Amino acid sequence: MTGTIKSIGVIGAGQMGSGIAQVAATAGYDVTLSDISLENAESGVRKIGEALAKAAEAGRMDAGEADATAARIAATGDLKTLADCDLVIEAASEVENVKRAIFAELCPVLKPEAILGSNTSSISITRLAASTDRPERFMGIHFMNPVPRMKLVELVRGIATEDTTFERSREFVRSLGKQVTVSEDFPAFIVNRILLPMINEAIYTLYEGVGSVEAIDTAMRLGANHPMGPLELADFIGLDTCLAIMQVLHEGLSDSKYRPCPLLVKYVEAGWLGRKAGRGFYDYRGDTPVPTR
Ligand code: NAD
Repeated sequence: MTGTIKSIGVIGAGQMGSGIAQVAATAGYDVTLSDISLENAESGVRKIGEALAKAAEAGRMDAGEADATAARIAATGDLKTLADCDLVIEAASEVENVKRAIFAELCPVLKPEAILGSNTSSISITRLAASTDRPERFMGIHFMNPVPRMKLVELVRGIATEDTTFERSREFVRSLGKQVTVSEDFPAFIVNRILLPMINEAIYTLYEGVGSVEAIDTAMRLGANHPMGPLELADFIGLDTCLAIMQVLHEGLSDSKYRPCPLLVKYVEAGWLGRKAGRGFYDYRGDTPVPTR
């Protein structure tokens, strides 16, 4: 634990927020996990409990430690509960207006010295920071999916972010056992600036009939030595998140090379958002994933 940061608030109990809450509690922080409703937040906490129990069963964690870690995480459906947190990390859906509305509700109750971080994959940290009462204490703290397994966290300063905010955020990330990389504040930062156009191109390859879902994923797994095929990875990230990132790249850099593939748009419109929805480029509702085209 860092000297100054003790309690963490996490907003959004989806795949990322739950992962962030889990690693912070594992490192010894007290964590409050919030979502639109208490039920959503409780469901996130339940899943973390299951993940910790699994880690204990597999011998990756002591059973007592797993219980103690789970006990450090509380669920809430009310942002006021985060008032005394030293650091709040927003990990709600990748929709700028949703994030702005959260900050508008949170900032008036959050203690002035607290740091506010966003786990956004692509949205301008400077712009998000400017919508709050504390641009100098606002940071992009971008975790990778799945959070407990992925080593990297990208740190992104907004134009007004103070050095002490950056240093405290870096110290916090290191205390989680993660490695930091620093990106300037431009659309989608480093990882997704490179990764998402590749995924979007894989979807164009499918859209234009160059290959099937299976052919494209096999080609990139065995031909480029990627641990997951790009369509499998897109399902894992969430197709709504993939589309949102491509839209931020397209609009933010005004370059047609970032135009989102219409097939990606269609999947999102269908609600086929990938693994979290049970269906995307693969159907996950049976025992083994089956390609959907
Ligand atoms: P998700 O869909 O799994 O979870 C989003 C959660 O936010 C949901 O539980 C939803 O109920 C909650 N939410 C929505 N509006 C809210 C509100 N007003 N108040 C509180 N909670 C609200 O999405 P995710 O994959 O966890 O992504 C969350 C954030 O993390 C996004 O900004 C995304 O870009 C970023 N991110 C995602 C990945 C990834 O691979 N999926 C990786 C890095 C960063």
